[in-house]
Amino acid sequence: MSALTGKVQTVLGLVDPNQLGRTMTHEHLTMTFECCYFAPPPGDAAVAQNPFQMQHMHWLRQNPYSCHENLLLNQETSAVRDELLAYRKAGGSTIVENTTTGIDRDLPALRQLAKDTGVHIVAGAGFYVDCTHTEATKKMSVEKLTDIIVGEVLHGADGTDVRCGVIGEIGTSWPITESERKVLRATAHAQAQLGCPVIIHPGRNPAAPAEVLRILQEVGGDIGKTVMSHLDRTIFDEGELLEFANLGSYLEYDLFGIETLNYCFNLDVDMPSDSQRVKALAFLVDEGYEDKILVAHDIHTKDRLTKYGGHGYSHILKNIVPKMLTRGISQQQVDKILIDNPKHWLTFK
Ligand SMILES: [Zn+2]
Repeated sequence: MSALTGKVQTVLGLVDPNQLGRTMTHEHLTMTFECCYFAPPPGDAAVAQNPFQMQHMHWLRQNPYSCHENLLLNQETSAVRDELLAYRKAGGSTIVENTTTGIDRDLPALRQLAKDTGVHIVAGAGFYVDCTHTEATKKMSVEKLTDIIVGEVLHGADGTDVRCGVIGEIGTSWPITESERKVLRATAHAQAQLGCPVIIHPGRNPAAPAEVLRILQEVGGDIGKTVMSHLDRTIFDEGELLEFANLGSYLEYDLFGIETLNYCFNLDVDMPSDSQRVKALAFLVDEGYEDKILVAHDIHTKDRLTKYGGHGYSHILKNIVPKMLTRGISQQQVDKILIDNPKHWLTFK
C-alpha cells in the first residue's frame, strides 16, 4: 500500500478512478517527432517545404513524416487547447499523454492544458526508442534507469514537480536494442515497486509485442497492467493476434484516423483503414477479450489536428463509436473499452 494505491495520478494530482470517464489511452498533446523524419518521395522536395495549404493536404496525409514542420506538434498548444475543449464537448474526459524522454515531453504545458480545459491528463515516465537515447542514457545501469523512472512518478520529471501517472510509452525497435532492453528491465523494476500502469511502443514486426512482454515478465513486470500499443500496424494474422492476446496484456488499437497507403516506416505493412480497425475490435470482442481492449488516435503530427483539416482527438467518440455499434459491439462493450478498461489499467495497485 502507498499513497498512490487505488488512485490515478494526473498532472494536477491524484484523482479517484471513477472520475476519469471516457479515456483515450494513447495520445500526444505536445511533442516533436524529428527523430523519425523521412525523406520525401523523389520530386516532392518542393511541396514538402510548404505543405500547409489546401492543395497540399492530401500529399501531407500520405507523407506526414516527410515535412519537418509537420513533426513539431509542440508549436500547436493553442490549437490543442481548442481540441481538448471540443473533446470534452464530445463526451471525452481523460487523455493519457504518452510523450516520454527523447521526443520533448513538456510537463508544464500539459499541466496548463489540464487547468485550461478540465480534461484529466496523465503524463508518461521513461524513455522513447533507442535512436532518441542520449549517450548518457545508453551508459546508464538498469538500477540508475529504474531510479529515474521511479522518481518521475513519485516526485516529478524534467526538473518540475509534475508527476507521471504511467510508465511509457516505452519505445522499442526491431530488433530490440541493448539500451532498450535495459529500459524495459528498469520499467519492470519500477512497476514492481510502484504498482503502476505501463504502456509499450513495440517494434514493427509481428514478433515484437510478445518479445517485449517476455523481457518484462522475466524481471517481474506485471503483464496484466501493461498496454501493448499500435497493434493495428503490428499483428495482422488473426491466429497470431489471439496467441498474443492470450499472454494477458491490454490490446491497444491506437492509430484511428491514420489511413496512409504507403507506410514509410515499413513498406510491407498495409496500414488498415478505420473500418478494418473496427473489424479487428469486433473480432477480439467475439473472442472474449472485451476487458482488454483500449483505443486511441496517437496524434503525433500537426496534420491530424482539426486546425489543418485532420480528424482531431474526438474522432473516435464522434465517428468510430457509431461504427462499432453497427458492427456487433454493444453499448455496454463500448463503455468497457472507453471507460472501465482505462480506469482499471490506470489505477495504482
Ligand atoms: Zn505515441
